[in-house]
Amino acid sequence: MAAAGKSAADPAAGADATPFDDLGVAVSRREPLSHHTWLGLGGEASFFCEPVDVEALRRVVSRCRERGIPLRVIGGGSNVLVPKAGFAGMVVRLSAPAFCGIEVRKPGLVAGAGAKLVHVVSAAVQAGLSGLETLVDVPGTVGGALVGNAGGHAGDIGERVREVTVMLVDGSVENRDQSRLAFEARWSNLDDCIVISCRFDLDEESPALLTKRMQKQWIVGRAEQPGGTRAVAMMFKDPLGTTAESLIVQAGARDTRVGGASVHAPHANYVVADATCTSDDVRALVERVRTRVRDALGVELTPQIEVW
Ligand SMILES: Cc1cc2nc3c(=O)[nH]c(=O)nc-3n(C[C@H](O)[C@H](O)[C@H](O)COP(=O)(O)OP(=O)(O)OC[C@H]3O[C@@H](n4cnc5c(N)ncnc54)[C@H](O)[C@@H]3O)c2cc1C
Repeated sequence: MAAAGKSAADPAAGADATPFDDLGVAVSRREPLSHHTWLGLGGEASFFCEPVDVEALRRVVSRCRERGIPLRVIGGGSNVLVPKAGFAGMVVRLSAPAFCGIEVRKPGLVAGAGAKLVHVVSAAVQAGLSGLETLVDVPGTVGGALVGNAGGHAGDIGERVREVTVMLVDGSVENRDQSRLAFEARWSNLDDCIVISCRFDLDEESPALLTKRMQKQWIVGRAEQPGGTRAVAMMFKDPLGTTAESLIVQAGARDTRVGGASVHAPHANYVVADATCTSDDVRALVERVRTRVRDALGVELTPQIEVW
């Protein structure tokens, strides 16, 4: 979500005081976003905060709107590419306990947007609730997963959503039930708000069977992802009926490298960043692979990773 406003210049430039000083919220300036992304890349956010509760979040969101300061939320940072120039605005991370709760309410579960997806899946499995276990290998938070309708061959998170609580750009909070929610392949209509929490509808099943299914998915998922390094990102969405990985291989693009960014050859839909890599390298690599697939196979791949 981006608050109204068009400030392209750094709103923190040259000022000692910040526009948030009277809000009772700890706001840091010039926060390196490389500390918050899986690729470990990107410049600074002018302002950064981790509000302690919904009321503190509301104050920050309202202030951003009043002052025309752009605002973004970062979850686990596993699907964002931050440019070297950083982000001229406020970045909010919902990492405080108030946003990371997981509460079993059979036959469902309520999870905060900042909760790690893997923790939510484990809690559901332990409680004998099925429906989320196929997401065990997806990195990131509930909020990020809902916004991008994360998932895979075995299903997407949106299929299990009953209600989402969100904050709008004016700081108001509302509940959206299924009639107001839309989930499609790696897309949802939650792009106009901040996700605060979600209620999932799940099925009761034997925890022992579920644990086995989750472990199997974990092993399969791990085999499909590059291991051993966090400096990776998924490049493209899978087109209908095929995978981005198979198209990249067919197009002969698995050896593509730009500067410090390269295609991870054994898992060709991932980019790996080495120590010299920049955000521009990753961006250029994604574009080059896309062009190679288009030229060789006539298929237009859609990037998965979101450029800020
Ligand atoms: C190794 C690896 C494997 C992956 N495997 C899969 C996979 O199998 N399936 C799949 O779908 N994806 C996969 N991904 C992509 C990524 O993990 C998912 O898109 C994930 O759901 C992103 O969650 P996040 O919390 O990291 O979001 P971020 O990357 O932090 O953010 C993604 C977007 O969501 C927004 N956002 C985050 N939280 C909120 C919130 N509370 N309110 C409003 N907006 C918010 C951000 O502003 C941004 O626009 C993979 C990525 C990696 C690196």
